[in-house]
Amino acid sequence: MLDTYNQIKDKFGPDCAFDSPASGVTTYRAGGPLDVLVKPSSLPDLAWLRKFCAESSIPFLVLGAGSNVLVSDKGIRGVVALTVKMDRLEIFGDILTAEAGALWDNAVKASVSAGLSGLEKTSGIPGTVGGAIVMNAGAFGQETFDSLESFEAMEPSGVVKTFRKSEVKYSYRRVEGLSGLIILKAAFRLKAENITALQADRSGVLGARAEKQPLDFPSAGSVFKRPAGDFASRLIDAAGLKGLAIGGARVSEKHAGFIINTGNARACDIYALIKKVKAEVKARMGVDLELEQILLGEFEG
Ligand SMILES: Cc1cc2nc3c(=O)[nH]c(=O)nc-3n(C[C@H](O)[C@H](O)[C@H](O)COP(=O)(O)OP(=O)(O)OC[C@H]3O[C@@H](n4cnc5c(N)ncnc54)[C@H](O)[C@@H]3O)c2cc1C
Repeated sequence: MLDTYNQIKDKFGPDCAFDSPASGVTTYRAGGPLDVLVKPSSLPDLAWLRKFCAESSIPFLVLGAGSNVLVSDKGIRGVVALTVKMDRLEIFGDILTAEAGALWDNAVKASVSAGLSGLEKTSGIPGTVGGAIVMNAGAFGQETFDSLESFEAMEPSGVVKTFRKSEVKYSYRRVEGLSGLIILKAAFRLKAENITALQADRSGVLGARAEKQPLDFPSAGSVFKRPAGDFASRLIDAAGLKGLAIGGARVSEKHAGFIINTGNARACDIYALIKKVKAEVKARMGVDLELEQILLGEFEG
């Protein structure tokens, strides 16, 4: 395998690293070594990497900002490609086009500055455009798919296809049929709106996040999806679990829906706390919470 990995290193040079800790590329700041971490900066380079991995039977995973994942302490075998160097963003008329690695909040900021409405309520989500599509990320009643027009995605063979929104099944924090695809680029159709009103909306959302969320600690946002007619954070609070800790992982006292890394959490601490919270909420409140965050690598139990 080392010989195959060295061929990737030869191609990408300093944009390829061996055994990088996942804590360096995830917002939980936890997790073990990634065998091969690559940051392609162009479509041909990404296509080369994807095809090379498919042909060499190397496991392949793509990540954006790592803000919705928990990587195991054992790390991830094979190649992890980060999209962060593919981050161009353009606005023509009422269409915003962004590469998958563009930070979602940069897209929101650009749309607000251009007097275009459709993304402003999702201000402050710390992921990328690619991650927002895969998760159908959203906040304050606005979701990624509300204004999405179409996106381009790459198959393992390197072939690129365009998908219109109408061809994809999506719902709250769920998009079907994307498995094995790399999102490359997306187009959003927005609506002209008064810039001052949009800026006020954006500031309001950013203010509410700073007030309610534990942004001074590493986390990956809400751990669980919102159950029908309720909020995971309300249930976790009502179950008396705020402040519950395992190792360096703790249920945030500021927002019970978040698990924070208080400094030295291992992924196994966070995972054990997720399981404990789920079991306690089931036992005390009778609700089966569904995980929103994505577990990557091996977890025990
Ligand atoms: C403080 C904080 C607040 C948050 N608030 C919100 C919120 O209000 N609403 C919300 O919905 N989420 C929120 N999140 C969660 C997270 O930011 C979103 O889910 C975000 O959309 C994830 O994007 P990402 O680029 O970080 O994805 P990653 O975590 O890197 O990846 C998530 C999944 O998408 C896949 N993926 C990523 N990029 C691509 C690509 N180009 N092609 C194919 N697959 C890809 C990965 O393989 C993985 O399965 C919050 C997180 C934090 C830390």
